[in-house]
Amino acid sequence: MVMPGNVVLEAAPFVAVLVGDAADTHCHGCFRPMEDVVGDSGGEGGGGITCGRCNLPRYCSPACVDSDARTHTRECAAMAAAPEQVRRSNMVRMLARLLLKLADKSGGEKEAGEEVPRGRGGKSRRTFWDLMSHESEFSSSERLFKTITGLHWTMTNFLGPSVVGSLDAFVGVYGRLMINSFEVSGDQRQVAKAWGLYLAASVIDHSW
Ligand SMILES: [Zn+2]
Ligand SMILES: [Zn+2]
Repeated sequence: MVMPGNVVLEAAPFVAVLVGDAADTHCHGCFRPMEDVVGDSGGEGGGGITCGRCNLPRYCSPACVDSDARTHTRECAAMAAAPEQVRRSNMVRMLARLLLKLADKSGGEKEAGEEVPRGRGGKSRRTFWDLMSHESEFSSSERLFKTITGLHWTMTNFLGPSVVGSLDAFVGVYGRLMINSFEVSGDQRQVAKAWGLYLAASVIDHSW
């Protein structure tokens, strides 16, 4: 039996974002509270380093700027141009990171995958597209389908049709995200501070 608090799996997320207040109070590179990590290396005024173009992500150190640079470079221009309520949305920021990663063919990220444990000490390579999407369930609920259609419209305005693709394709991406992602709380208060999509976690049999 798995007790609350037991670590059942440790894995790096395929895509992750800070959510809610944590987006303002935590470093977007290492996800630690800014107040804990900003020291002498913290950049201007000890308040960390904020992206000067979109004025959104803050980082505790130049190393964290670098660690997020590949991902943030893709989203920065769209973030800078987006209305405040769009770019503050956890869902929009998560989908933006995911869609831009999937659309980036320069680093072979279209096929991005990772080795995951399988069976008796075996391993296999798994990509985003191997994840279950439960597409039919998502499109058979009228209320949910309205939500997805609205999100598809928002994301297309935000990132452009070449990144977002058709509504059908978007349903598959949205479904895989919702089925395979988890909120992560960083402390005893159990307040979600980050939201991550994990490829490896989907090997845990989930029947919900
Ligand atoms: Zn950091
Ligand atoms: Zn930026």
